[in-house]
Amino acid sequence: MGDHVHVRLSQGLSVSADGELIEHSRCRCGATFTKVFEADGGEPERRPGS
Ligand SMILES: [Zn+2]
Repeated sequence: MGDHVHVRLSQGLSVSADGELIEHSRCRCGATFTKVFEADGGEPERRPGS
């Protein structure tokens, strides 16, 4: 569908056996996403500046 921009709607969180926090999300188009926050990684998203 062209340049469809997925909208990640949170479906909840789970924790893996390794202690990683896993965020599940999905778009209205049916695409699914998982985002893993490593247990020892600290802040998963760091934006430089400002
Ligand atoms: Zn989508």
